[in-house]
Amino acid sequence: MTQALLATDRFPLADADKCVQCGLCLPHCPTYRKTGDENESPRGRIALMRAMIRNELALTPTLESHLDRCLACRHCEAACPAQVPYGRLIDDARAFVAANRREAWGRRVLWRWVVDGLLVRPHRLGGLGRLLRGYQRSGLQAIVRGSGLLRWLGLATVEAQLPPMPKLKHYATVYPVTDAARGEVTLFLGCIARIVDQPTINAAIRILNTIGYSVHVPPGQNCCGAIHQHAGDIAGARRLIAQNLKAFASTGDMPVITLASGCGAMLIEYGQHVATREATDFGLRVHDFGAFIEDRHAALFEDSATSVDGVAVHEPCSLRNVMQSGKKTHSLLSRISNTKVDTLSNHATCCGAAGIYFLTQPAMSEQLRGDTLQSIRDSGCRTVVTSNIGCALHLAAGIASRHLDVEVVHPAILIDRIWRLKG
Ligand code: SF4
Ligand code: SF4
Repeated sequence: MTQALLATDRFPLADADKCVQCGLCLPHCPTYRKTGDENESPRGRIALMRAMIRNELALTPTLESHLDRCLACRHCEAACPAQVPYGRLIDDARAFVAANRREAWGRRVLWRWVVDGLLVRPHRLGGLGRLLRGYQRSGLQAIVRGSGLLRWLGLATVEAQLPPMPKLKHYATVYPVTDAARGEVTLFLGCIARIVDQPTINAAIRILNTIGYSVHVPPGQNCCGAIHQHAGDIAGARRLIAQNLKAFASTGDMPVITLASGCGAMLIEYGQHVATREATDFGLRVHDFGAFIEDRHAALFEDSATSVDGVAVHEPCSLRNVMQSGKKTHSLLSRISNTKVDTLSNHATCCGAAGIYFLTQPAMSEQLRGDTLQSIRDSGCRTVVTSNIGCALHLAAGIASRHLDVEVVHPAILIDRIWRLKG
């Protein structure tokens, strides 16, 4: 199939044409800062996309790699005075590339198996979670790691990110409180998070119950669709959006609380991905956990201020640039703590996790993580708080490989811990 034969009408060329090439976004772009290459900048990538869609530039591996190396962190979008919707442009450009490139058969089968055979099937993910827990607890992990087999299979990076796997819990459809003084909320579980980050889910339910919310966990909810969307699999993302809208339909206008800003950023923009009233209304219901507490119930925490030493806040790009709630975790934790809560010195850039970027672009990802780890070292903190599970796993793996004495936790874990200590 050739480029010329494929429809390009989906790509929002008018939005790309809003770019006036001022270059104000360049200093905010992590890949441009690392390479100094215009092709690795937002302005350069927009020019490449335009030329590709207009069939002025052939889709070569070099062109593809400039687009692939974009983190979709959207720091450029936040900095752009012309309001170029870069996030939409890169997603749609990748959809165009996915429809046009000649992909190795093996790679296509593997991708389908991972995203459609595993990520979107909670029962299979649960089975994988149990297998991984057995792998870790039996001692097999140490043997396999020492054998070099993981490197040979190309699985070393992803395996290194595995946290200690919790015992899997099946969630009830509702966690009621007798006196639901503040009302009802719903919780979005996510795909990977529901098997690797159950302590955060449990802590969030406890906190929401404690402050007077009944917590609904709609069955039938699935992966948010971000991995599909950002890889150019628009049809796959739409299937998941439809499934989640259906799952949450019976919960009226209850707030939807997310514990991973990577998912929250996707959910909040459902209305941009499928132009229906239902999807737009759903997006308006979505809140990051920490931002929800800070916006609505900050006063509840003022009496519970205690000393939490050595805490630094990491701001995920998705929380900062898409959910527009980057500073709220810091405000919330500062309210709870009598001591100063730091913000990491390189908080305005990406840690290199970026969904599956750490797997597809390991070299750039490692450079970016190295910078964030240096800022963790410089801060002298012992606890890094982040609201995105992808960033948490990526940073924790880097911390472990450098033998730093630092833990990475979600704000819900820290708040829950403080409250438990206070009895
Ligand atoms: S800041 Fe906006 S308008 Fe200026 S070059 Fe970047 S994307 Fe284009
Ligand atoms: S999304 Fe991030 S990596 Fe991609 S061009 Fe914008 S700032 Fe650069």
